[in-house]
Amino acid sequence: MKHAEQTVCPYCSGNGYVQLLLGGSETCYCCLGKGTETKK
Ligand SMILES: [Zn+2]
Repeated sequence: MKHAEQTVCPYCSGNGYVQLLLGGSETCYCCLGKGTETKK
């Protein structure tokens, strides 16, 4: 497998958003909705 520089965001599992406990969804603040975790 190829090693990508961008990895799937562990917080939203690459969805770009997270499910709220009270219902609905919100843009993932960790990756800002991109679904990938950018390395610095
Ligand atoms: Zn995320």
